[in-house]
Amino acid sequence: MDQEITAFPGWIARDGVTLEQLDPAMLDDLDTVVRVRYSSINYKDALALHGRPGVIRRHPLIAGIDLTGEVLASRHPRWQAGDLVTLNGAGLGEDLHGGLAGLAAVNGDDLVRVPSELGPLRAAAIGTAGFTAALSLLALERHGLAPETGPILVTGAGGGVGSIAVALLAAARYEVIAATGRPSELSSQLTALGAAHVLDRAELTSSGKPLGKQRWAGVVDAVGGPVLAGALAGLQHSGVATTCGLAGGAEYPGTVLPFILRGVSLLGIDSVRTPPLRREAAWQRLAQLLDPALLDSVTRVVPLSDAKDAAASLLAGAGTGRIVVDVA
Ligand code: NDP
Repeated sequence: MDQEITAFPGWIARDGVTLEQLDPAMLDDLDTVVRVRYSSINYKDALALHGRPGVIRRHPLIAGIDLTGEVLASRHPRWQAGDLVTLNGAGLGEDLHGGLAGLAAVNGDDLVRVPSELGPLRAAAIGTAGFTAALSLLALERHGLAPETGPILVTGAGGGVGSIAVALLAAARYEVIAATGRPSELSSQLTALGAAHVLDRAELTSSGKPLGKQRWAGVVDAVGGPVLAGALAGLQHSGVATTCGLAGGAEYPGTVLPFILRGVSLLGIDSVRTPPLRREAAWQRLAQLLDPALLDSVTRVVPLSDAKDAAASLLAGAGTGRIVVDVA
């Protein structure tokens, strides 16, 4: 631990969630101490900062499921002082003190080196949302999808996971269909990210039928609920969908028909407990594929003091792209 740091700012959940000056002694006794430079606002962070249940599992707890920064000290064989690292999930901001603070103690096993192509601010812009988009791409490919198999539908395309999924899949040469509830507002942004077509999400939910025209070979779904059911109804025979989110509902109001009549598969994505080798693979793909200028075009940076206000738009379903929190 850096002896010079006697206090650091952080968003902490007690009765409410407030920005306070915190004592380094409160951190968990984990092998690596990181001076946090950036965090980000994911949907889970928005829930946690606004006191919604289901994310924070221990009190008091520093919020924030992402961090990017510089190692101050480490007992882990892989890391030394000065290394630039990033961490997504792995319990941060849920059952371990998280990244919306100036200092963090973490498990070195879960850290990933910030790719030199990206640098720390862009690594934070990717954050859990972009990491999850990359895990979704890896999962589709493990199940045999390739650009020539057919188009991929991305739902919640205006949000964090969705917008990075659109850019990533397009860069990997997939034909991307971006589904959004805000087509008139976001069409040009989604096209600039690489979407070949923009779909009004109402088209996915309007018929309510379990099977529709076979329109896409794959799906990256961050929404759940009726949108996921509609996305599966449009999957081609033997198509593959990933499910990571519930911005539109935790239920699956569909039937087994796409599975048993069209042989489709639904793959679950959990970024939090991703093992280290898969973390590395996802970040390598992000560094290789993502155009930094496109990432910058959907990134907004806010100071630590504005994190809670910035999070409100995500809860209203009105967030776009990614919000980086400048902690330093
Ligand atoms: P954002 O808030 O940035 O994006 C969510 C998007 O979903 C919105 O922008 C909107 O897109 C769409 N949406 C919001 N509300 C509704 C609604 N009521 N009905 C239909 N669509 C809606 O969140 P993130 O991208 O950070 O996260 C998306 C989801 O993925 C969350 O549920 C999150 O918890 C989950 N997640 C899960 C992870 C995992 O490991 N499993 C990791 C990361 C995220 P548009 O307006 O374009 O339709």
